[in-house]
Order: sequence, then C-alpha cells, then structure tokens
Amino acid sequence: MQELLGKKVADEIKNYCLDFTGKYNGILPALAILRVGDRPEDLSYERSIKKRFLDYGLEAKDYSLPENVSNEEFQEVFDFINNDDEIHGIIIMRPLPKQINEQEMLRKFNPDKDLDGITDQNAAGVMRGDTTAFAPCTAQAVVEILKGYNIEMAGKKAVIIGRSMVVGKPLSMLLMKENATVTVCHSKTENLKEIASKADILVAAVGKAKMISGGYVKEDATVIDVGINMTEDGHLVGDCDWDQVVLKAGAVTPVPGGVGIVTTAVLAKHLVEASKRQMHLETPDDQKDEYVSEN
Ligand code: NDP
Repeated sequence: MQELLGKKVADEIKNYCLDFTGKYNGILPALAILRVGDRPEDLSYERSIKKRFLDYGLEAKDYSLPENVSNEEFQEVFDFINNDDEIHGIIIMRPLPKQINEQEMLRKFNPDKDLDGITDQNAAGVMRGDTTAFAPCTAQAVVEILKGYNIEMAGKKAVIIGRSMVVGKPLSMLLMKENATVTVCHSKTENLKEIASKADILVAAVGKAKMISGGYVKEDATVIDVGINMTEDGHLVGDCDWDQVVLKAGAVTPVPGGVGIVTTAVLAKHLVEASKRQMHLETPDDQKDEYVSEN
C-alpha cells in the first residue's frame, strides 16, 4: 500500500511559486484573507495559509471583521480588496453570518481574483473544462495528488461520495475532464457501499469520521480522503477508517498530511496564476485551454 503524501505534491507547487517570484523579482503576489468572526477552523486555515505563503515567497494579508459586522461594512471592505491593484487574489472564509448578503458580494467579485472558484463565472468555466477558470482549491487538490503520483484517471471508474459545491460537484467535472467515468454519491444514494466498492478511484468527501470502512473499497483502489473531522478526544481523522482501508487499497491519502496541505498549495498556485493574468505576464501557452468541451 502506497501512502499518498500531500507534502510531495505541495513541494512541487512550492517550487512553481518560487520560480515565479525568482523570475519576476520585485513582484510580490498578494492574497487577501477575508474572515468574519473567530471560528477555530477558520483561524487554523488562516494560520496555515500565512505560514505556507511565507515559505512560498507570497504575501497573505488578513482582513478580519467581528461576527456582528453589518452588511454595509462588510461590503465596503470587500469592495476595497476587490478593487485594490495590489491584491491579486481573495479567499473568503465561509459560511458568512446571516446578515451578510453573499449574493451581493458574488455579483461584483472579480473572477480573476476568485481563487477558490466561488463565482458563477469560475463554476461555469470548470464545467466547460476551461483550464483558465479557478476550480475550488480542495477539488483541484484531489486532481493534483492523482497527477503528482501518476495515477491514471483516463478510463477509470471514479466514485465521489459527497456533492457539495466546494468538493464533490466541481471534482466530478475535473475528473471527467481527465476522462474518468465519474459517479457522484450523496446521503440519498442507495447501495452506496456496493457502488463505492467498484471504484478504481474512491474520493470520500462526506464529513463523517471513519465512515468509509474496508467494505467500501475495491482491492488495490486509490482512495483520496478529503474529510477533516475532529474526534471527541481532539484527534483529527478523515472520512476513512484508516486501519481498515489500508488493508484493501493500493494507495491512500492520510489525514492529516494528505489533501489539506495540497489545498493550501493550490491556493498559492492560483494566486501566482492570478498575478500573471492581472499583470499581463502570461505567455500564449499559459492561456491555452487544453480541452474545452463542445458538448
Ligand atoms: P458538506 O457537508 O457540504 O457535504 C457533505 C456531502 O456528503 C453532502 O453531499 C452529503 O449528501 C454527503 N453525505 C453526508 N452523509 C452521507 C452519508 N451518510 N452517505 C453518503 N453521503 C453523505 O461537506 P464539504 O463538501 O464541505 O466537506 C466534506 C468533508 O471535507 C468535510 O469533512 C470537510 O471538513 C472536508 N473538507 C476538507 C477540506 C480540505 O482542505 N482537506 C476542504 C473542504 C472540506 P447530501 O448532499 O445529500 O446532504
């Protein structure tokens, strides 16, 4: 059984970012992290972005607002970072509190700064197979891991458990673009275990600690565990029951140390791509779509 370590893939992305800042000495791609309130998971993600971006030679500035901030004040801060030429990308910690009008924000969000692919323009681009659209970082991270470990996707049966807009749905499009045959499952799927156990590539994005037991896994399958769950005794575990899954799978991502670290690295890669675009540093090759579906 091969352990698919996120660090290997993240290090390749780090080199890509360092190459960019080395080549364009004097350009410092800058990310704005917009956070409302102090949710521990948001603070932890923010810390890991800042730490990694420092290593990657990129800047991450935080814009934190109190939980009870008014919609008007929130939109003002958003407008500022969305229009500031020295900010090349934005990540917003979501969900936002109820008083914030997310649709108002999304309507004006510059898609070239939308590094986590939450605007309709980027979602549509991902659906078309347009490689210049920003896909949500976690969904993209799954594909980067598979590519980074040379795991064949074309013609393979991929089963994704979870259909959220941040993971399952965009990932189904990205895997389809890689010519996998994709099945998306959710809480109403019947015979889930049977469907999952036919997959060459099984992606668990459920949010239920250790739900995926050995019975869900085909012999020698590749299993990507997106889940991040905190146990009662304070341990971080995935959606897969590691002890069981490793007995069946050919390759598995650990939690922690798998998808999470690559997600932050993809955010960094997206920031570099956004900076190139905004500073008109793209070469024709960078802009070229590898494949845009005509269907
Ligand atoms: P959501 O809660 O938005 O979606 C969960 C999905 O799982 C839903 O589609 C839901 O189905 C489905 N589901 C829930 N229970 C079952 C079940 N018993 N059987 C089959 N399907 C089920 O979660 P996210 O997509 O946002 O996140 C999924 C996991 O990934 C979480 O653990 C999250 O913490 C983690 N995550 C990790 C990231 C990383 O960087 N590694 C980043 C983002 C998320 P239905 O649609 O029918 O409700």
